[in-house]
Amino acid sequence: MIIAIDGPAASGKGTLAKRLADHLGFACLDTGLLYRAVARDVAARGFRLEDTWAAVATARGLDPLELEDPDLRGTAAGDAASIVARIPEVRAALLAYQRDFARRPPGAVLDGRDIGTVVCPDADVKIFVTATAEIRAKRRHCEFEARGAGVAYETVLTDIIARDTRDAGRPNAPMAVAADAMLLDTSNLSIEAAFDAAVGLITRKTGH
Ligand code: C5P
Repeated sequence: MIIAIDGPAASGKGTLAKRLADHLGFACLDTGLLYRAVARDVAARGFRLEDTWAAVATARGLDPLELEDPDLRGTAAGDAASIVARIPEVRAALLAYQRDFARRPPGAVLDGRDIGTVVCPDADVKIFVTATAEIRAKRRHCEFEARGAGVAYETVLTDIIARDTRDAGRPNAPMAVAADAMLLDTSNLSIEAAFDAAVGLITRKTGH
């Protein structure tokens, strides 16, 4: 079984995907990490993120098993990822790995921006996780505060809106709600309530 979880930056889709995978005993792939790792490696080799040749060569040589780097989880890595993610050949280079992963038995949960539309258009369940930009920024800001990182709320909000705009506006595999996706608005939901709602959607769709 394949479960596709898409949604904008800081929507909580990664946390939700992991919780669902644990609950179902499925493998879980955070596909954003692939783009983040490509951007990290392009920069580490001294190339500009907009350098198509360097980004494509890096994506083709990426070792998907080297995604454990904690620096990949930061805001700067996310912004950098959304620059290389605009390059169609970078996306194409990462596609086979994602599709192979999706076929892992007994099932897989993949989260990203184009899982339900491009990577796994035949996924058994598609959930698009949303929350208002202000609420997403507030949650992210709280995480930063907890870590002692002094970033202003307005800066977090501006960054989130800029990344959403870039991801939804690119011509190739933009962030989009698949026609057969179920919407899960977590604006007024705790993590626990969002998880319960997602389990309900999966049960409704598959009977599991
Ligand atoms: O999900 P995450 O915030 O880690 O993704 C980082 C960036 O990678 C996104 O802003 C987006 O540009 C890109 N991405 C993508 N397609 C995916 C997953 C992530 O374009 N399936």
